[in-house]
Amino acid sequence: MVGSAALVWPCHASDAFTAERERMVREQIEGRGIRSPGLLRAMCVTPRHLFVPSHFRSDAYGDYPLPIGFGATISQPYVVALMTELLEPGKRHKVLEIGTGSGYQAAVLAQLADRVYTVEIVPELADSARKTLRSLGYSNVFVRQGDGYEGWPEQAPFDRIIVTAAPPEVPEALIRQLAAGGRLVAPVGSGWLQQLVVIDRKPDGTLHRSVGPPVLFLPMKRN
Ligand code: SAH
Repeated sequence: MVGSAALVWPCHASDAFTAERERMVREQIEGRGIRSPGLLRAMCVTPRHLFVPSHFRSDAYGDYPLPIGFGATISQPYVVALMTELLEPGKRHKVLEIGTGSGYQAAVLAQLADRVYTVEIVPELADSARKTLRSLGYSNVFVRQGDGYEGWPEQAPFDRIIVTAAPPEVPEALIRQLAAGGRLVAPVGSGWLQQLVVIDRKPDGTLHRSVGPPVLFLPMKRN
């Protein structure tokens, strides 16, 4: 059907969920127009069922977000794909994620970037994501418990920044921590639906802002 198909199928992973995961990627991700072979491959091999609470395991590859406790959710697979495609992560990139949640988005990014730094405000979620990622061998993901409005100044600048909870406006600290030539993707707005916003910092330092499709995210909390 598409040129990239031969690079991706079958999903080269073998666990009880491989067939479900392959169907998820074909129908929900590739079927809706995501074409990046690296991203399709990463989603093909990332065991999403190990990032959801055990009682939701059989729903892990459904076309919806799932609750992960503490009022948080693991995003719908398509939303993870859409934001990752907009982010355009590269193998040499240092990435910052705000809103670790389950750690699933970080795991997908870990396969497409050099290093992923991810900040989660809820201590229990930060701990469990750290454990999940470590047990699966994602050694290039670093989880910190903290307030994402501050970013991660000690590790700045970042080539890519992805925000997975919705702030009313893009936090100033995150824009400051974006490298020249870097890109930030965030769902922005305080209403029920938000707008995906893409901010590019040009090599000369100037900022360029564009707006993507509407999305539905949990609000980014203030401490
Ligand atoms: N990326 C996650 C889904 C994120 S859900 C995944 O792949 O599973 C949004 C997450 O943002 C929640 O875990 C929530 O606790 C966290 N969050 C909310 N406000 C935050 C803030 N100010 N700083 C950091 N994390 C925050």
